[in-house]
Amino acid sequence: MSSVKAPTTKYAVPGPKAQSIMARDKVVMSPSLPRSYSLVIDHGKGAEVWDVDGNRYIDFMTGIAVASTGHSHPSVVKAIQEQAEKFLHICAADFYYQAVVDLAEKLDEIAPFKEDAQTFFTNSGAEAVEAAIKLARYSTGRQHFIAFFGAFHGRTLGALSLTASKYVQKEGFFPLMPGVTHVPYPDPYRPLLNMGNHKDYGEAVVQYIEDVVLHRKVPADDLAAIVIEPILGEGGYVVPTDGFFPALRALCDKYGILLIADEVQSGVGRTGKWWGIQHFGVEPDIVTVAKGIASGMPLGALIARKSLMTWGPGSHGSTFGGNPVSCAAALATLKLIEEGYMENAARMGDHIMTILRQMQASHPIMGDVRGKGLMIGIELVKDPNTREPANAERDALVLHAFERGLLLLGAGESTVRLMPPLMVDPTTTEEALGILEDSISAIEATL
Ligand code: PLP
Repeated sequence: MSSVKAPTTKYAVPGPKAQSIMARDKVVMSPSLPRSYSLVIDHGKGAEVWDVDGNRYIDFMTGIAVASTGHSHPSVVKAIQEQAEKFLHICAADFYYQAVVDLAEKLDEIAPFKEDAQTFFTNSGAEAVEAAIKLARYSTGRQHFIAFFGAFHGRTLGALSLTASKYVQKEGFFPLMPGVTHVPYPDPYRPLLNMGNHKDYGEAVVQYIEDVVLHRKVPADDLAAIVIEPILGEGGYVVPTDGFFPALRALCDKYGILLIADEVQSGVGRTGKWWGIQHFGVEPDIVTVAKGIASGMPLGALIARKSLMTWGPGSHGSTFGGNPVSCAAALATLKLIEEGYMENAARMGDHIMTILRQMQASHPIMGDVRGKGLMIGIELVKDPNTREPANAERDALVLHAFERGLLLLGAGESTVRLMPPLMVDPTTTEEALGILEDSISAIEATL
């Protein structure tokens, strides 16, 4: 990998204008916001972002996998402008308009199950998960849920009850929704369970769910749903083993349990397929989506098999869910993804993985490299044999890259995630990976 030529940042970051905005922010913004580093954006275009001091960055984090078509794609901006000229709001809960129907029809077409789909629109991922919790309870008449350690499903109280990513997200907010049992995510790099007689660790996880959770804790006929991110997002960009989902689907079918795929981070083309779960050959019953669906406009959705949509008028609703401007942005986004960006995500994802695996051979700090399409994680370790997580080093790496003009984000305990826009090209990628490798070398030298 060629070494990067010169830092693209003009000023030591944060520059003077950024510092001024950050100081005002500190006074009036909620201190609960975690904030990763001192990026104060002025504008973005495609895979590039400029801050208020004129520094240029390559964006390999897209505002947490949201700017899927790149920043301010002209087709998306045009769709937003055209819809904004017509009307901004009327409330899909009470009235009708075409954009929301067009989008629901498109989601029916691309939903990852054979049965017809119906959609409930929200404004965010957490709201989509809340809707899924409610629909699962409503349509099954059952109360309990299984979710996974490492999972992030959002911060509203129901979604937070399914979340088990970082303790700080829950501390001070108990009691949460009762009836949630967490089990190990099928993480082959850091297995928590014994393999037993299984060759595939994911099958061992499913066996544990059946033998331990269902037989000892939660009666299967009171388990409404198993909720899972097909590729773990905030928890570390972990890809399950191949045997996991087929075994999980079989377990759900055996006991009449719904399988909810939370595709908020992995969905809408990011992994090179419409949905992350499509890499594993099984159909979910319910899908939750948000983030990249509208290129940055707030929109979420619960997509369910039609036969599960048993709830009647008034049982669930939202004032803003399915906002017409967001729907217009989503339709333009899905068109771009369908007409090329999804294929680009698969191709560029393979390309990046190949380069990262080559890098891994000469950088022992890169303990594990994994991912699908443009949802890629590099788990940093202090020693590849002990696999001790290199948490502080990960944070230092993200900061180092930022100061040299590459935007990254961490995930899990010691993973760096790469989630560029789906339109990213080879030249920009080469530049980004050059900065990444320089940063890895710099951090490695401190070990
Ligand atoms: N589900 C998953 C898989 C996510 O990654 C997130 C956010 O990171 C959420 C749900 C919550 O989405 P939001 O922040 O839009 O509420």
